[in-house]
Amino acid sequence: MAQLTRRDMLLAGLALPGIAGASYGQIPNDDAPSTPKRFEETAGFELADVVASHPLAILPLGSLEFHGPHNPLGSDSIIISGIAERVTARTGGLLFPTIKFTQCPAHTAHFSGTVSIRPEVMTMYFADVLRNVLHIGFRKVFILNGHDGNIGPGRGAIAQVADEVNGAALLFASWWEFLPGEMMRTLGMFHQANGGHGHGGPLETSAVAAFRPDLIHLDKARDLPEPPDLSDGAPYFLQKSTAVDWPGYSGNVSGASAEKGKKLIQISEDGIVKLVENWLKHDEVPGS
Ligand SMILES: [Zn+2]
Repeated sequence: MAQLTRRDMLLAGLALPGIAGASYGQIPNDDAPSTPKRFEETAGFELADVVASHPLAILPLGSLEFHGPHNPLGSDSIIISGIAERVTARTGGLLFPTIKFTQCPAHTAHFSGTVSIRPEVMTMYFADVLRNVLHIGFRKVFILNGHDGNIGPGRGAIAQVADEVNGAALLFASWWEFLPGEMMRTLGMFHQANGGHGHGGPLETSAVAAFRPDLIHLDKARDLPEPPDLSDGAPYFLQKSTAVDWPGYSGNVSGASAEKGKKLIQISEDGIVKLVENWLKHDEVPGS
């Protein structure tokens, strides 16, 4: 860990608590422990006790991917690490390290800075990580996703390991799904028909800024059209092999801000915590 300078400390103070890096802060207005218990900080002798006292394992999935000239390559990892830290503290789970080397779609894989692992490799990799988490003794695993490219491999891996272990329950959710387009339009933060969604767009840029405002460079990007909606709001999956002339982001990024990002992160975080609490409460109900 690098030495923290006074400037680093000041910058960290501007950001949301739970920020990635050395500056884990207090989570305000919350009775939960201010910092979560981390897997990599757990000593060998205490592991059995830690598993017994933290029955829920939380595994964040990020990426290293070009997100436009104005965003850091680790945007997804920064957002999901921050949310996972706060969700773990509020739910009393054990926080595993964010997986950052993941699969990226073809249209961002062409940009320098994107690191993409083949989807079949990623599925096997996720499955092995999950197998080990279960082997340690966890039976409830929450996979908290920060990147679209993890959905296929992540669900494929879950399908594999869920069949192998008795009594396991694995929950998968993506943070941006807690901010649906209709809600975003009602909030009126960004002047887009889709409410600000889109790769490297104002919603995502604001979410990065909530944790790391020092890593956002709005002067390097101009506003672009938002991605076209082909279904009138219903979710769909479309992937193209190339994206000629696309600059790697879309939307009115000039509307992004850390203040908006903090509000959005709070809404998403509250929704995720509710999901986890409901899951644990109704876990005895058979079926899915
Ligand atoms: Zn992203």
